[in-house]
Amino acid sequence: MLSRRPVLSLVPLALAAFVSLAHAQSPAQLAARGDVRAMLDALKADNAWTLEKQVMLCEIPAPPFKETARGVAYKAQFEQLGLTNVRVDAIGNVIGERRGVGDGPTIVLAGHLDTVFPEGTDVRVKNENGRLTGRGIGDDCRGLAVVLATARALQASKITTPGTIIFVGNVGEEGPGNLRGTRHLFDKELAGKIDYFISVDGVGDGLTSRAVGSHRYRVTYKGRGGHSYGAFGIPNPAHAMGRAIAAIADLKVPTKPKTTFNVGIVRGGTSVNSIPFEASMDIDMRSESARSLTAIDVQVQRALRRALAAENGRWPGANDRLSLVVDTVGIRPAGSQPDSARIVRVASDAAKVLGWTPQLTSSSTDANVPIGMGLPGITIDGGGRGDGAHGLDEWYEDGPRGWLGPQWAALLVLSLAGAR
Ligand SMILES: [Zn+2]
Repeated sequence: MLSRRPVLSLVPLALAAFVSLAHAQSPAQLAARGDVRAMLDALKADNAWTLEKQVMLCEIPAPPFKETARGVAYKAQFEQLGLTNVRVDAIGNVIGERRGVGDGPTIVLAGHLDTVFPEGTDVRVKNENGRLTGRGIGDDCRGLAVVLATARALQASKITTPGTIIFVGNVGEEGPGNLRGTRHLFDKELAGKIDYFISVDGVGDGLTSRAVGSHRYRVTYKGRGGHSYGAFGIPNPAHAMGRAIAAIADLKVPTKPKTTFNVGIVRGGTSVNSIPFEASMDIDMRSESARSLTAIDVQVQRALRRALAAENGRWPGANDRLSLVVDTVGIRPAGSQPDSARIVRVASDAAKVLGWTPQLTSSSTDANVPIGMGLPGITIDGGGRGDGAHGLDEWYEDGPRGWLGPQWAALLVLSLAGAR
């Protein structure tokens, strides 16, 4: 289909094969249009609405795997904004659409519903002279509010887009959720349909374009256990785990790409005078590079098995043998896309139009899913400032220009979706 607007640049052939850019306009060109300017101005004028939603959503508990109540409230907001095909998918993602009027790409703009806080956590938000203190207020009630504000501003404008914009409040971003909400979007609910994925997560003005992958395991050494004096001479699960930790602690990893390992939790034993029947630990490994992540994983697994053999070998006369169980806690794909990728460029350009140059960073977010699949995906900060994410003293301050967050999201999705 021919565009009524001219094609603005030479479209790289490889990219054109995936996504029609016939309607593409740069953020600067869009921001110069009266209707787009009015939409951006409305986001600034309606800043209090955005903050009110941020607080309202944050005061609904959303522990890992228990995002339903917050999801229900989010769905009601989508319905009030008049989005179409509003639904909760099979895994709990809340979805609402703004249909495109042409053959443009499909863009997902998402914030995550879940928090790291367990059931029973006090989630009331305190407002002291504009400083909002509350669990999850930045991560990711800010993102949820920015997604809503963007949907509201687009709906209120009369701008039509060739591309379809799908707004999402997704489940399962935080550790134990293991990105299950976004995985479900790409594997099932919207499989094969997403051309650009943007997550709004946390506070600030940065742009995550590279995905730090992680492998997380719970490792358990098991044995018969017994009295520390009476049963002495059998392999000891705690000793085996100690050997493993000592070996892991000495592993060598590259600094570029940054690759890390950590034994974060150790458990086991029942008393000082008992040989434990079990000792376990949680291990986390991370890297921007899938290859480095695999390499450190192989070394850690080898260290675990060698420690088992060494502890069993230490007591050759014993009947009891230890066993080793490695449970996967989470696997997040690593990956990166070039700074020249269209989604990264457009996001940078949109921020520049609004007055700043975003720093490109690597992190572990919902965008890991598309990036790991080789698809265009980024995570943008939601504006404002704050600190203490995942802690009990998390705070958010909108400051004098918090509305830049929603403006950035809106200008970005519009630039990708195109505007008639
Ligand atoms: Zn988050």
